[in-house]
Amino acid sequence: MIEPTCSQRDAASVIFNLPDYHVIDVIDLPLGGRRVIVQADTLGEGCPDCGVVSERVHAWCRQRVKDLPHAGGVEVVVVKPRLVCAERACPRRTFTQTTSEVPLRARCTSRLRRGLLEAVIDHGRPVAGVAAGFGGAWWTAQKTVNAAVVVLPDVDDLHVRHLGIDEHRYRRVRWFRDPDTSAWRRVEPWMTTLVNTASGQVLGVVDGRNSAAVEGWLNARSQAWRDRIAVVAIDPSAAFKKAITASLEPVRIAFCEGGTRAGTVTRRRDPRVDRPGKRRQVSPLRLCHWPDCVAHGFAH
Ligand SMILES: [Zn+2]
Repeated sequence: MIEPTCSQRDAASVIFNLPDYHVIDVIDLPLGGRRVIVQADTLGEGCPDCGVVSERVHAWCRQRVKDLPHAGGVEVVVVKPRLVCAERACPRRTFTQTTSEVPLRARCTSRLRRGLLEAVIDHGRPVAGVAAGFGGAWWTAQKTVNAAVVVLPDVDDLHVRHLGIDEHRYRRVRWFRDPDTSAWRRVEPWMTTLVNTASGQVLGVVDGRNSAAVEGWLNARSQAWRDRIAVVAIDPSAAFKKAITASLEPVRIAFCEGGTRAGTVTRRRDPRVDRPGKRRQVSPLRLCHWPDCVAHGFAH
């Protein structure tokens, strides 16, 4: 028996490549762009209330969703069934089909959301620029980013023994003109991140990289919380050392090249490849490779 080895999907579905969907029609729009009409590969789905799987269609509806741009503007229309719940005792009479790519009440596909997040979070592009590039609205992109934000934990409920502190410059240096004196002022946008080096969990972020900012954060914790700290890992920073000395009982301070795991976003000069007159090369930050660093065993 000869089995076909080529794709079982039609050419349009392969090119469009929306998981769990196949293309049923494509139309050229009069003002440019295309309308791609898709339908889920499977019909049956479990009721969200009782879980009983149903394939009995009550009605078909069409929903327009935003999707990744494909060689120009694309308008995606999803043809989805409204199914009748097969369980007579269930209070829900009908329900709409959902998939991982088009969840309930979604206005855009999941792959578009992933693309937005990757552009904003991984590549650091501005939200407005990303939204324009994807052909969406700014508030849609911002809402997607807001939904993906990791909420900082309630630090006071955590038992932290190994603390890491490191500073990060989160954007380029900016100059601002003082409205009163008309003098230009240089602003370096630094922030300091505090993490639990045992787990890599971010505990807090404070403005600046001076001792007052770190000291303020530490002093906001209870005495019992601060007494649990056994080791603090920092890079060689006099400001951080001052804050630790002032706020914590005598603890062991581990100096390493990056106080936190989050420091992997920073880079350092490598003297082996950086030569005068040569374009500066940077190597990825190598977290502690000092043999006597007590943070080495658990932080990295
Ligand atoms: Zn049901």
